[in-house]
Amino acid sequence: MFDLDQIPVPDLSDPNFAPFWEGTRENKLKVQRCEDCGTHRWPPRLTCRSCRSANVEWVEVVPRGTLYTYTTVGRPTAKGFSSVPYTVGFVALNTPANVRIIGNVVGVEPSQLAIGMALEGRFVPAGPNGEMTLIHWAPPSA
Ligand SMILES: [Zn+2]
Repeated sequence: MFDLDQIPVPDLSDPNFAPFWEGTRENKLKVQRCEDCGTHRWPPRLTCRSCRSANVEWVEVVPRGTLYTYTTVGRPTAKGFSSVPYTVGFVALNTPANVRIIGNVVGVEPSQLAIGMALEGRFVPAGPNGEMTLIHWAPPSA
């Protein structure tokens, strides 16, 4: 469906994102959480949006949520993104509710997509040597 081996690999050692990539490699979704007030944050930030604290930890969250919004790409753009059409979704996690994660939505025909539909994360290897693991979103398996 996707030419996943053609997707450019970001700097996986970037300290702002390394815990995320280490998590997906183990089929876990990890986001930041403020050590002072407990507010989750994604994407990674240096300080907490709620209390300005710089104290942060990475925690595993359950990769289940609902489709917040999406776009379906109909024109090939670049290596790794040439198998059209494909859908990119913005998924609001069930818990914590203030976290939204972007990823390809798979297993659903574009005409069947609906805002609010339940989705769960699927971890898929990508990059020329499978060196990174992406999260895709699909309807929950029964
Ligand atoms: Zn905080």
